[in-house]
Amino acid sequence: MSTPRTVRAARGTTLSAKGWQQEAALRMFHNNLDPEVAEHPEELVVYGGTGKAARDWRSFDRITASLRDLEGDETLLVQSGRPVGIMRTHEWAPRVLIANSNLVGDWANWPEFRRLEAQGLTMYGQMTAGSWIYIGTQGILQGTYETFAAVAAKRFNGTLAGTITLTAGLGGMGGAQPLAVTMNDGVAIVVECDSSRIDRRIEHRYLDVRADGLDHALELATAARDQRRPLSIGVLGNAAEVFPELLSRGAPIDIVTDQTSAHDPLAYLPAGVAFEDWKGLAAAKPEEFTVRARESMAAHVEAMVGFLDAGAEVFDYGNSIRDEARQGGFTRAFDFPGFVPAYIRPLFCEGKGPFRWAALSGDPADIARTDRAILDLFPENEHLGRWIRMAGERVAFQGLPARICWLGQGERAAAGQRFNELVAAGEITAPLAIGRDHLDTGSVASPYRETEGMKDGSDAIADWPLLNALVNTSSGASWVSIHHGGGVGMGRSLHAGQVSVADGTELAAAKLERVLTNDPAMGVIRHVDAGYEQAEQVARAHGIRVPMREG
Ligand code: NAD
Repeated sequence: MSTPRTVRAARGTTLSAKGWQQEAALRMFHNNLDPEVAEHPEELVVYGGTGKAARDWRSFDRITASLRDLEGDETLLVQSGRPVGIMRTHEWAPRVLIANSNLVGDWANWPEFRRLEAQGLTMYGQMTAGSWIYIGTQGILQGTYETFAAVAAKRFNGTLAGTITLTAGLGGMGGAQPLAVTMNDGVAIVVECDSSRIDRRIEHRYLDVRADGLDHALELATAARDQRRPLSIGVLGNAAEVFPELLSRGAPIDIVTDQTSAHDPLAYLPAGVAFEDWKGLAAAKPEEFTVRARESMAAHVEAMVGFLDAGAEVFDYGNSIRDEARQGGFTRAFDFPGFVPAYIRPLFCEGKGPFRWAALSGDPADIARTDRAILDLFPENEHLGRWIRMAGERVAFQGLPARICWLGQGERAAAGQRFNELVAAGEITAPLAIGRDHLDTGSVASPYRETEGMKDGSDAIADWPLLNALVNTSSGASWVSIHHGGGVGMGRSLHAGQVSVADGTELAAAKLERVLTNDPAMGVIRHVDAGYEQAEQVARAHGIRVPMREG
């Protein structure tokens, strides 16, 4: 049956695969396509424009069957969402190895990718869509919360209370923005052209209200700001029109960013195109549509620079909108920075990044238990404690219950060990899948995002994510992935992921200790190599060996 259908991960402790490592991959694969999790599950699209979990429904069926049949010493190979081989390996080897959307340098552009995609030869894997560790909007919520907290620390005395943030896009990732702003006590106006996305974010409690129009949005925003009351407001419209309109009205905006799917011009609605005509026009005339989308992004970014000139804090939130706007003819697009050099790089130097885990039991009580474990493990980290407590109260789970928090070198291995002990002791009712975003400290080369403005100019060096995947494969991860494109689009990034299963066994404990030590250590050494003193200190403190610093 190779037709669309509703998919939901199995819950509980009954296995349909031959071991928990395989069962975990199966449940997380299916979980990516749960209608609560995926943006467009009928098309196998999980998030981020066209980021898919499997190439087509027949591939979905064959991956499912292969994982059920896979032995504990075999490895399934997935090539851009299609299962292409099963090989005899060994029990320390990953159960699944995944390569998605990779093209040779000169061919790595959207027209060539789409040509191959149309022939059924490849698919877009985004970061965690094709690598089966997307956990819904919460996945980015913590990163977005951290970013807005850093903005608050930099410009607004540590709180967004009394400020208004303007942004756009309420999709899978962008939908985290309103809640991240209100968690920092600010007011957010979010422009979205798809009415159903506004409803969905309100339903999931990520967005507070929908405004009837721009005047209403501004009224609501200024009233809340004046009372220093957090509030998030969705407004239906096209950002390429609304941003310039707000600028020309002199709207009192303090912070501006954007999370439309700008990385893919066909996933950005140009001004003047009706929402209903979007898909048809993009499919019928992709080149003409791309030109129009880039022109609109130029207007959108020109307004962002206008707000910058007026004194607002403005940053690119990792969707390549500056480069698309540049290609659309706006020469000042790079006047504002990307969020990584602006706020996140110091965390990367400590091996910190988006650590996440999902309860394969499906029981929210298991995540509550892990939340307590995190609070017990790191009692001195108030920032982390605040996040974990707020997430416990305010984050609605999508699909399998899951949690994310940013942990660094040493912390990830400690958490992994503790989680495995809790599974072994029966305090957690089934194993946990422990993974992370590809947007991490040592797993990505992306000159417009994670590696923008590296100290030694090594932004485009892509050996690091490949080494990262090899290290995790050698260290005992349960599945490992290498992707191209991700959040910034074809030709602009290479990145790798890993997921490791805490099933309570001694073998899992040994694997987790190595993977969760070596994976963040890749980030530390990447930043040591680029000349960051902070990373050198972390390497020394954790005994991470860097031969070029030893002789
Ligand atoms: P998505 O496709 O699920 O959502 C994008 C939303 O933008 C859609 O709801 C769409 O209707 C809306 N949109 C498109 N054009 C618009 C316009 N002109 N005006 C108003 N709304 C418009 O994508 P997503 O998963 O939310 O990701 C958003 C972007 O962020 C992507 O480019 C993604 O690659 C990037 N991204 C960033 C990070 C990060 O860490 N910052 C991580 C992953 C992805």
